[in-house]
Amino acid sequence: MAELTDLSYIKSLLSSHGFTFSKALGQNFLINPAVCPKMAELSGLHPDAGALEIGPGIGVLTKELAKRSKHTVAIELDKRLLPVLDETLKDFSNISIINDDVLKADLQRIIENEFYSRGINEIYVCANLPYYITSPVIMRLLESELPFKALTFMVQKEAADRLCAAVGSRDSGAVTVAVAVRAKAEKLFSVKAGSFFPAPKVDSAVIKLTPYETPPLAVESMKFFTSFVRAAFEQRRKTLSNSVSSALGFDKSDIIEILKSCGISEAVRAEALSLEDLARISNALYKLKIKE
Ligand code: SAM
Repeated sequence: MAELTDLSYIKSLLSSHGFTFSKALGQNFLINPAVCPKMAELSGLHPDAGALEIGPGIGVLTKELAKRSKHTVAIELDKRLLPVLDETLKDFSNISIINDDVLKADLQRIIENEFYSRGINEIYVCANLPYYITSPVIMRLLESELPFKALTFMVQKEAADRLCAAVGSRDSGAVTVAVAVRAKAEKLFSVKAGSFFPAPKVDSAVIKLTPYETPPLAVESMKFFTSFVRAAFEQRRKTLSNSVSSALGFDKSDIIEILKSCGISEAVRAEALSLEDLARISNALYKLKIKE
C-alpha cells in the first residue's frame, strides 16, 4: 500500500470514496512523512500499552500508533471516513475505530471494553486534534480522571503557546491554569502549515501533557477550582474580585477580604497571579461556599 502521506495517493484514495474535506470538522490531514512517526515515538507508547487517538482521518498517525502499541483505539466523528479507514488500515489487527464524537463518547466504557479487557492498563493519548475543539477536548480528557499516562497533541501554534505558558505570564489564560494544576505541559516541536493537506492558515506545534500522579498543590475541590479559574479569566480586563463576584455570586467584599488575607492587592487581575495564589484564593472561597 502506498504511503498515507503521498499526496497523489491521498487524492485518488479520497476521490475513489467520493470524500470531500469538511472545514467545519477541522479536516487537515498530515502529509509530512516525518511528523507522525515522531509524534508516536515521543508519546511514550510501548508494546504493552494502549493508544487512544482522536480524529484518525485516513489513518496516517493511527498506523504509527498501532506499530508501537498493543492496541490502538481511534474515535472518528465523520462516518464518511469509516470505509476509507477500513481500506487503509486493513493490514492491522490491533486497531478499533469508534464512530463517535469525542466530546460525547463514554470514554470510561471505551477504555474498559477496548483496553482493560485486553489486560492493557497503561494508556497514552496521541492525536492531531480538530482545532475547533482543542480546549474542550483537552479539558474533557484531563477532567475525566481516566488514568492516561501522557497526552500528546498537535495543536495550533497559538494554542500550544497558551497551553504551555507559565501561569502568571502574558500568554497564560484559564486553560493554562486548568492544565497546569493537573499536568506538566511541554512543547515538543513546531510544524509548518505546509505539512498538512489542505494547508491551514496557521502553523502548528506538538505538545505533551503528563498528568501528575500527586497534584503539585493542594486544591480543596478541583471542580470548584475549575469554575473559579474560568470566572476569574473570563473578562481579562476586569479585576479578579469583579469577575468572580459577578460570575459565581460571591460578595465582592468577601473576595477582597480573602485577597487581603493572602497579601494580594484588591485590584489584582487573574493573569497576574501564580498558581499557588489562585489555589489559595479558590480554597478560601470554597470554604466560604460550603459554610453557607
Ligand atoms: N489524524 C489525521 C491526520 O493527522 O492526518 C486527521 C487529523 S484532522 C486535523 C482531525 C480529525 O478529527 C478529522 O478526521 C475529523 O473528521 C475528526 N473530528 C472532528 N471533530 C471530531 C469530534 N468531535 N470527534 C471525533 N473526531 C472528530
